[in-house]
Amino acid sequence: MKVKIRKGDTVQVISGRLEDKGKRGEVINVILDTRRVIVQGVNIRTKHQRQVQTQSNRNINPGRIHFEGPIHISNVMLVCPTCKEPTRVGVKRDEDGAHRVCKNKDCQAIIA
Ligand SMILES: [Zn+2]
Repeated sequence: MKVKIRKGDTVQVISGRLEDKGKRGEVINVILDTRRVIVQGVNIRTKHQRQVQTQSNRNINPGRIHFEGPIHISNVMLVCPTCKEPTRVGVKRDEDGAHRVCKNKDCQAIIA
């Protein structure tokens, strides 16, 4: 199945870790290989880090680093920008190509 969620979309967490359930956030990355997404503010992990030097010679300060861990795409639903509800995504084809559409019964808006 094709991944219908893109970077910049807003998604809602529908399952997974309890504290994340129901959260909404912007998709900041889509990892197609593993069918996972990274969502702003969701699945926050803490990493204890010693001072390290990156390849570009920047120092990263030691301490706790918070970062978003990837979550599986099946744990999120796209939030339709028109009706603001989580929805399954349909595909509609016309002369301009394929468009994603909201599958909520009363909406069916095209999702940019
Ligand atoms: Zn909608």
